[in-house]
Amino acid sequence: MFFHLFFTKMNWGYFSTPQTTCCLGMKNRACAVPRGKALGGSSAINAMMYARGNRYDFDEWVELGNPGWSYEEVLPYFIKSENSQVDGDPDYHGKTGFWNVAYTSPASPLLSKFFNASLQMNQPIVDYNGRKQIGSGRVQFTIKRGKRQSTGKAFLDNARQRRNLEVKSNVLVTKIIIDKTKVAKGVEFVTKHKKFFVKAKKEVIVSAGVVNSPQLLMLSGIGPKDHLKALEIGVVEDLPVGMNLREHALFPGLVYNTNYTLSNRSTEEFVKQYLKGLGTYTRAAGIDGIGFIHTGQGNRAPTIEYLFVPPTGIKTKIVSKAFNYNDNLSNNFLNKLDPQRGVVIHLILLHPKSRGRITLKSNDPLDFPYVDLNMLSEQEDIDTVIEGIEFIRDIFQSDAFKKIDARPLEIPVCKELRKQYREYWECVIRQMTTTIYHPHGTTAMGPDKKTSVVDGDLKVHGIQKLRVVDAGIFPTSPSGHLNAPTVMVAEKIADIIKRKYRFS
Ligand SMILES: Cc1cc2nc3c(=O)[nH]c(=O)nc-3n(C[C@H](O)[C@H](O)[C@H](O)COP(=O)(O)OP(=O)(O)OC[C@H]3O[C@@H](n4cnc5c(N)ncnc54)[C@H](O)[C@@H]3O)c2cc1C
Repeated sequence: MFFHLFFTKMNWGYFSTPQTTCCLGMKNRACAVPRGKALGGSSAINAMMYARGNRYDFDEWVELGNPGWSYEEVLPYFIKSENSQVDGDPDYHGKTGFWNVAYTSPASPLLSKFFNASLQMNQPIVDYNGRKQIGSGRVQFTIKRGKRQSTGKAFLDNARQRRNLEVKSNVLVTKIIIDKTKVAKGVEFVTKHKKFFVKAKKEVIVSAGVVNSPQLLMLSGIGPKDHLKALEIGVVEDLPVGMNLREHALFPGLVYNTNYTLSNRSTEEFVKQYLKGLGTYTRAAGIDGIGFIHTGQGNRAPTIEYLFVPPTGIKTKIVSKAFNYNDNLSNNFLNKLDPQRGVVIHLILLHPKSRGRITLKSNDPLDFPYVDLNMLSEQEDIDTVIEGIEFIRDIFQSDAFKKIDARPLEIPVCKELRKQYREYWECVIRQMTTTIYHPHGTTAMGPDKKTSVVDGDLKVHGIQKLRVVDAGIFPTSPSGHLNAPTVMVAEKIADIIKRKYRFS
């Protein structure tokens, strides 16, 4: 049901602006930008994969002038929130946190083929959240007995009884109120067509996510001054809010039909299994295997992630719709994948050089902001994706996949360029690439207010008693998925706040 969640009221339902360098095979050249609208935010609609990133990612945050964020210093916070059921590396996993992390069960029969192919490509089988990330592994999910554990369920449900917590839902925060001395005083919100003001005794913490936190800051006068002036918003602090939008580009074009058949179980049987927390339907988007490689020079964080999707038994029409594919890609590509026999390996660009931007459409808080992804605008990104494609095509050439007669689906775009290898793949990538729904960086952390929005304690530069705590603060891209590092950030800031106010 993962892709079906896109079409419910739990998704804000954003789309990017029409793109020129990516999303070209989508209707209106726009990629979908789903964002969760529920307790737990996007973790209520995400694919539940638990992937923290690489030690070098966090060490780099320190190199960029953010003390306290090295891997050694943040690892305890990853461990703190986790209740791990996986057979991972000792010393890297928590067993007493609120957030359950587990494998789906049973593994797909094809997972061993994926592992054999990986080994043939010199990719060891690893706990990718453990000592060594580069290699292949079984996906760790934020699930409990096969069911979603959003951060709402894992953390808020456990804190519901506390007297110092009040949660208001169906509320839209429209403005942060900041006084003349640049101190945040509280927030304005609307619910049922009425406006309210809530006063902060200590601080305001904005966690509205990578699209809405910048929107809220800009509506409150914190943002690039020219942009704010153009919309007649009084400038309180000139900061690069909404800039530096990074996104993990996802290339979903490596799709193969095989002679392996999932099973002749009926949908009803699959659903019955699912209700017991078991089977194929418990795997979000069908994903079972994961891996990381480092292309290029040096041996730091991985540059490419790959996700192995064995046959799911589910028709792919909904995937085309969720990707917003145009009629050509919908009818002539994904819909040709045999749900019983088709295998996909998705490719993810982990450290994009390209930057997009969030801007306000107007000064009306009810207007969705513009999301300009601008993915693949740097040639280096295209080159890295091509290297990743070569690696994945080699996986499919391995003995393990030859044995099940894996044959690529014909890609129905850019045919006229087929004889020019690089031009062909560049064209295909720009047509088919979408996102893995990992925007970040729009309120980046850093010491310099010209290039960042918050400091190392996530306090907004130039404003007192105001913090941003969400995936927008990542100064660089984590080499994994974003939910785990977002929760790590929240755990760490919770500690800083507790230390600050313990005796006040
Ligand atoms: C479809 C999808 C699949 C994903 N798959 C994975 C995955 O498998 N693994 C992974 O690790 N990550 C995944 N992610 C990414 C991950 O879920 C997010 O990066 C993470 O949840 C970001 O957390 P956040 O706190 O920054 O923002 P969010 O989780 O988006 O939370 C923001 C919250 O603020 C609320 N809000 C916004 N504006 C306002 C306002 N003005 N007033 C009141 N409330 C407001 C929103 O409704 C939302 O509840 C996925 C995301 C999506 C959308």
